[in-house]
Formats: sequence, C-alpha cells, structure tokens
Amino acid sequence: MQDPLEVLHRVFGHAGFRGLQEEVVRHAVAGGSGLVLMPTGGGKSLCFQVPALCRPGLGVVVSPLIALMEDQVAALRQQDIAAAALHSELPPEEARAIWRDLDAGRLKLLYVSPERLTGEATLARLDEMRIALFAIDEAHCVSQWGHHFRPEYRALPVLAERFPQVPRLALTATADPRTVQDIQRQLRLEESPLFRASFDRPNIRISAQPREQERAQLRGFIKRAGDGNGAGLIYCGSRRKAEQTAEWLRADGQDALVFHAGLEPAEKREAHRRFARGDAVVMAATIAFGMGIDRPDVRFVAHTDLPRSPESWYQEIGRAGRDGLPAEALLLYGAGDIALARHRIQESTASDEQKRVERQRLDAMVAIAEASTCRRQILLRCFGEEAPLPCGHCDLCQSPPKLFDGTVAAQKLLSAVLRTGRRFGVGHVVDVLLGKATDKVAQFGHDQLPTFGVGRDLPESAWKSVARQLVAQGALDVAVENHGELVPTEAARPILRGEQSVMLREELVAPVAAARRGRAAVPVDGAVQADPVFAALRDWRRRMAAAQGVPSYVIFQDRTLAEIAATLPRDLDALSQVPGVGATKLERYGEAVLRILRECE
Ligand code: ADP
Ligand code: ZN
Repeated sequence: MQDPLEVLHRVFGHAGFRGLQEEVVRHAVAGGSGLVLMPTGGGKSLCFQVPALCRPGLGVVVSPLIALMEDQVAALRQQDIAAAALHSELPPEEARAIWRDLDAGRLKLLYVSPERLTGEATLARLDEMRIALFAIDEAHCVSQWGHHFRPEYRALPVLAERFPQVPRLALTATADPRTVQDIQRQLRLEESPLFRASFDRPNIRISAQPREQERAQLRGFIKRAGDGNGAGLIYCGSRRKAEQTAEWLRADGQDALVFHAGLEPAEKREAHRRFARGDAVVMAATIAFGMGIDRPDVRFVAHTDLPRSPESWYQEIGRAGRDGLPAEALLLYGAGDIALARHRIQESTASDEQKRVERQRLDAMVAIAEASTCRRQILLRCFGEEAPLPCGHCDLCQSPPKLFDGTVAAQKLLSAVLRTGRRFGVGHVVDVLLGKATDKVAQFGHDQLPTFGVGRDLPESAWKSVARQLVAQGALDVAVENHGELVPTEAARPILRGEQSVMLREELVAPVAAARRGRAAVPVDGAVQADPVFAALRDWRRRMAAAQGVPSYVIFQDRTLAEIAATLPRDLDALSQVPGVGATKLERYGEAVLRILRECE
C-alpha cells in the first residue's frame, strides 16, 4: 500500500490535501465506503484517484458523461497514470484494446459509463480482477429528486451485492437533504459515513440584479469578469434564448457557443469539446449544459433567468473558479420569472408533497435574489451552514441597499391595480400612476381614476421595482398564462388596509459598476494576467495543448503558471517546488518551461 501524501506530492504535485480530502482518502485507502458531499471545485476527484492509486488493483470510476470521462483520462495520462475510458460510443477495436490492457493488469483507473459497467459481461470480467475501489461520480444522478436523474444509475446497487469487499465512494455537489438520503438508500450507503464539506466558495463573487437591459448588463459583466481570459457560461431559461444569446454574443465578437438538450449528440459532443479546448469561449446554454464541465478556469457564470432553487443555482455558479482564482457570478431576474416559476409548479403533475418542496426551493431562491443583506450568508443557510459574518465579497456587502418604508408606495400601486380592474400588466399600471396620457389610458378612461398621477413622486424604474418586490414578497401575482396582468393576492389586503407595513429596497441602478471592488485575496490578479512571463507561459501551453489535442489546463493550470511567473525558478529542482508540478510533468515539460523563463529575461 502506498502512502497517500506521497502519492499526492509525487503524482499530482500538490503540497497537501484540502479540507476533507485527507479524511476521505484515508478512509477509502483503509477499505471504507462512504458518501462525499463537496461543492463543485472542492476537489472531489482526488478523493477517489489517490486511494485508487494507493490500493492494489484497479480503480473503477462511474461517470455519466463521455466528455467528462475523456477529459479526466487525458488529465491523468498527463500525470503518467494508466487510465482509460470505456463507454458505448467507443469503436469495438478500441474497447478490445482496453480489455487487453485490463486483463494484463496494465491499467490503474478505468472510467466507465453506468450502463456499460452494470452489464453482465463487464461484471463477470471484473469478478476475475482485483478492484481497488468503485467511485460513483455525480452520484445525485441516482436520485429522482434532482433534475439530473439517470435511470442507468439505478442499476448500481449491483456493485454492493457483487463486490461486498470493495470500497464504494459516491461523490456529489448536491447537498439537498432529500437527495442525500436518496443517494444513501439507492447506493446502499446508509451504514457508511457521510463526508460533508463546507459549501462556501469564497473566490466566487456573487451578485444579482433586476433584469433591465439584459444585453447591456451581460456585456458589462463579461467585460469585467472575463476580460478575454478564461471561459464563461451564460445560463438561459429556454433553448431559444440560448440560441439568441449565442448569436448576439458572436455578433459582439465573442467566441460564443450554444448548448441545449435539443442538439444532436454529435453537436453536443462538439460543443463540449470546443468549450473544453477554447481559450476565451462563452457558452450560452440551458441547464442541460452541466456535468462534464471540468475546466478549472471558468471565470464567470451568469443567469439570465431565475434558477429554480438555490441548489441548482449554486451548482451552476460553482462551475466558475474551480482553480480557486477570482470568479464572478451574476443573476438577472424579473418579476415575471418568479410568477412563471410559481405557476409552473402549480400546474405540474407532481405530487402535492413534491410541489410543496419545489415551492420552498423557489421561495428560498427568491429570497436570495431579493435579499438586502449578505447574499452568501443567505445562500449558505440553504445548505445548513451558518456563516457568522457577512462575506464582504458579494454585491450587497460591497454596496448595501438602502431600505425605506415603502408602505405608501405599495398601497398606491396595489390600488392602481385594483382600480384598473386587475386586467393590466405592469407597464400600463405604472403609466396610470405616473399620470401619462397614453392611448390606452384614454381608451379605458383611466385618467378619471383617483389613482391617476398619484405616483409622480417616483420615477418609472422605481415603480417597476416596487411591483417586482411586491411580487417577490407574495403580495402581487402575475397572470403568466394570460397576458401578464398583475393580480393582488390575499397578502395585499393588510397592506391596503394599513395594517402591515412594507420595507422596500432602493434599487441600485448600476450595481455592475461596483463589480471589481474588494476581491478576495487570491494569488492571480489582474497584475499577473498582464505579466509578460505569464503570457508567454500561456502561449507555450496553448501550443502544447493544441499539439496533443487536450485542454490547456491538463498541461498546467493557470494557478501553476502564475506561481511559476511569480517565483521564476532557475532550475528543475526549484520548478518542482511549484504546486501543480508533479514528477511526470517536471520530466515532460520542465526544460521547456525553464527555456521560456530564460527567453523572457
Ligand atoms: P470537483 O470535482 O469537486 O468539482 P476537482 O476534483 O475538479 O473538483 O478539483 C477542482 C480543482 O482543484 C482542480 O483544478 C484540482 O486540480 C484542484 N485541487 C484539488 N485538490 C487539490 C489540492 N489538494 N491541492 C491543490 N489543488 C487541488
Ligand atoms: Zn456578502
């Protein structure tokens, strides 16, 4: 048995384990099974890769996506680890070659799709082999509670039955209690320990804004967060919107791609491949683009529509900044989104129990969007974590919104809705409040109403904000199945009667401007990005990656290049001290890196 720490240093070139990794690794090396919950970017892969290398025999990794398997295998091979991926799209002769290697004991890690693994032919052959461990990646795919259910995962209990002596590690970034229980039950892990890491990802700066001028807001965000370095994701609420977004981004000169469930399998693979390989690509996608995004240098994630739960949102924004460097998340949302999501739940065919759960999740998401104190604290509370202090690294910590007693404004708006007969959307209601003489006002005689013009004290944008906040607080509903007319709910009554006051936020009109202030102290900052040595190293890396047909980060990650640029090692020995430079990479690339450093002198 090999020593885990020694494997971590020698093979992966990392200085030490992070957080829970060591505990998980030691448990698995000793033959234990368990479930590991870590946020995206938390470092789940090492939790099973290190024990697989330490223990005798083959490590078998179940993974739901071919692109994900292939990138992990490419990264492992860079570290001289004998790894291969077995899945249904492999040409038969390649599959045969992998089996030959397996039979000869030449492989150390095998990535395999669940359907391939649980077929009798595969199981029978694995029976003959020594297995170091089974790792079940993206384990939430086994649960019907999540949005990523994969029926093939339901066959996995066979592993516990056929290989009771072999440790099984399940890993996921979904911490929602229901899903967790479901995974434990489905994968027969009830008796095994649960390793739950903190879900805080302090390097991701989070922000949310009402959606006003979506394109301008996204442009500003991309410019600040991306600056042409690293990749970005823009999540859209529909396929059509993803297509449109990719289109205007391209017209803007971005290298923009699109991904959604409506693409052909080959198109999907190509999109995955281009996203993994491209340098400064922006992917406009629906949430179908999720698993398999292994790039550690995703610099920003934006949502143009309200996600359905804090879990989904966090999983999606968690794809940013896995390398630990600064990353940005922006959520754009409108009152219509909230109402639409509520209606979808109402109209769905789910059980009452499930509807209740979905409603709670949505309300939690709305609370984050409409928060007036530290967004991260509210978010972490959804995962059962109490952060004692405001984070200092979200939009609300950096520019706290002012609250004002908006009871009178709320009453004016609600009564304008009632007086116009609950038949109009926010635009017309606001026109009435502002006393605008539009055609519609004339047509319906709304200039005769007592509420006509009572809102001239506030600008139009403020009234829209009042309407949105009342929707968020549940006092107003938007009839999305009709024409988006505003409808007061029961909760509006005590407000109208003056029995309940309403606190509203003064909206920040241009909060994007604050985006770059007060970032967390992490090593690669703008200065490093501009460093010519770093740029030269990146150039070299791009050429190496292209020549080998692998993503840049499997050669060296940004963080490693930044460290090299900062410390300027003069020989191989010094270079080997840089985190991320393991023995194999030193041998392969050490001289080339030193040559570049000499050229830069
Ligand atoms: P996850 O699968 O949990 O999203 P990964 O396993 O992809 O996360 O790891 C995220 C990033 O963190 C990777 O770039 C990886 O190289 C890095 N990483 C993981 N563990 C360590 C460690 N102990 N020291 C330094 N970097 C690490
Ligand atoms: Zn905060």
